[in-house]
Amino acid sequence: MIKLNRPPCPNPTALSGGDYKNPDNKLALKASTFDKCMYCESKITHIDYGDIEHIKPKSKYPSLEFTWSNLGFSCTRCNRQFKNNNYDEVTPFLNPYVDEPSGYIVAIGAMLFPKQGNERGDLSINGLGLNRPEIIEKRQEKINEMDKAIKACFRSTNSSLKDFALQELKNEANNDKEYSMVIKALFLSHDIAV
Ligand SMILES: [Zn+2]
Repeated sequence: MIKLNRPPCPNPTALSGGDYKNPDNKLALKASTFDKCMYCESKITHIDYGDIEHIKPKSKYPSLEFTWSNLGFSCTRCNRQFKNNNYDEVTPFLNPYVDEPSGYIVAIGAMLFPKQGNERGDLSINGLGLNRPEIIEKRQEKINEMDKAIKACFRSTNSSLKDFALQELKNEANNDKEYSMVIKALFLSHDIAV
């Protein structure tokens, strides 16, 4: 999970008129997450349209069903299989539009852990299924790929080529890339500043 910036609502009339699925609004939310799930950072592909996510579930907070600050964009697995109608007012799931996730969650290899045992981090990882096996597998594949590329960079004897390759590689930690939290942590563990 990474910090996101909420854009202004492109079509507030549709929202206040009772349409939270308005395409203009959905597109803006999708762009704000870089086409990724706001929680697990999986790229939402053509086979999954992605869900308009109610951060506070509309079943428990009906007054927030058409409130822009309560909407996000998530994958169907995080939204329907894990989060569903769960929401703890005292220990709420991290909201990447408000909270800085790296203050609550730390990536070690392909796994996420609550930072210093933080309860909100812990609840978010478990309640949203952020360490589910299929995601661990995808993160690990990416880590293995990056590891090979890092080795190749550092074994290069030409320093200009090395710098160029390293610069290219660091793009993989950008916010628009899948699982960027894990990849950022990988680079930092190699003393590569990102
Ligand atoms: Zn997800």
